[in-house]
Amino acid sequence: MGGGDVTQEEAALEPRRVKGRFAPSPTGRMHAGNVFSALVAWLVAKSQGGSMVLRIEDLDAERSKPQFIDAVQRDFETLGLTWDEGPYFQHDRTDAYEAAYVRLCERGLVYPCFCTRADLHAASAPHHGEKLVYAGTCRGLTEERRAERAKSRPPASRLMVPDDCIELVDAIQGPYSQNLAFECGDFLIRRSDGAFAYQLAVVVDDAAQGVNSIVRGVDLLCSTPQQMYLQNLLGYPHAEYAHVPLLVAEEGRRLSKRDHDAALDALLARFGSPAGIIGHIAGITGIAPTCDPVMPEELLASFDLNTFAKHLPDKVQIRWH
Ligand code: GLU
Repeated sequence: MGGGDVTQEEAALEPRRVKGRFAPSPTGRMHAGNVFSALVAWLVAKSQGGSMVLRIEDLDAERSKPQFIDAVQRDFETLGLTWDEGPYFQHDRTDAYEAAYVRLCERGLVYPCFCTRADLHAASAPHHGEKLVYAGTCRGLTEERRAERAKSRPPASRLMVPDDCIELVDAIQGPYSQNLAFECGDFLIRRSDGAFAYQLAVVVDDAAQGVNSIVRGVDLLCSTPQQMYLQNLLGYPHAEYAHVPLLVAEEGRRLSKRDHDAALDALLARFGSPAGIIGHIAGITGIAPTCDPVMPEELLASFDLNTFAKHLPDKVQIRWH
């Protein structure tokens, strides 16, 4: 056996190495909210001796722009948010998504859905938060009816969900549970144009890339039960989740990619340097005691996820001036 080999006993004793991920969608430059979740993802993994994967989520070919693929990687580098593996690209992973999709179809859990966007809005009340609950309109169609509908419209594919609660304890948000049937409904795993849906792709990728620590914005918390359900069906392990609060603009308005004053160039102009941006975000979110300029590396020694989570408000207001 070579010197670097690890025996089975040693492997069993070794604590599980944390592997986090950055999963940007290349639909725009990084903004303050992305910087915050990326910083926390990096600190969680690196403060425990773990590693980071970079995955470019370019599943949506129409919205993903080549110029942003480069720009977003430069944004991470500029901010000192390093990665150890990747970039992996979702556009290279169609075969893996297809294989998972076929496994779900073979279990009889997938059905074609012909609903238009308008149908969905009309039939999807009540809303659960921002989420539309699918009413199951196409679940019970007969084979004849499906064949007939398919003549005028290519179907999307939905995964049937049971009347079960999926529960998790989020490292920041605490206990969270969702009844899949009542709070989510059968959900899309493939769009009518053939593209695989985010929920399926992200689960297949996280499993294949060995990601076991997922830190992202709280807007994705309500997707986590769907992803955990897919992990159950596909025999993948669950990750540890931490959903960071939203950064809001002064009036409490949610920041988005359309807020140009929150995009990285504007942040650089405002805060003077990458360390200025990181320092500001670390200060207002309680990662650091002050808003003084600092790079991620310098925050490692004092970072502790539990302490950070305990003192974090529901929403963090960004203070531009
Ligand atoms: N690609 C998604 C985004 O940029 C993140 C998906 C995830 O973290 O699961 O919003």
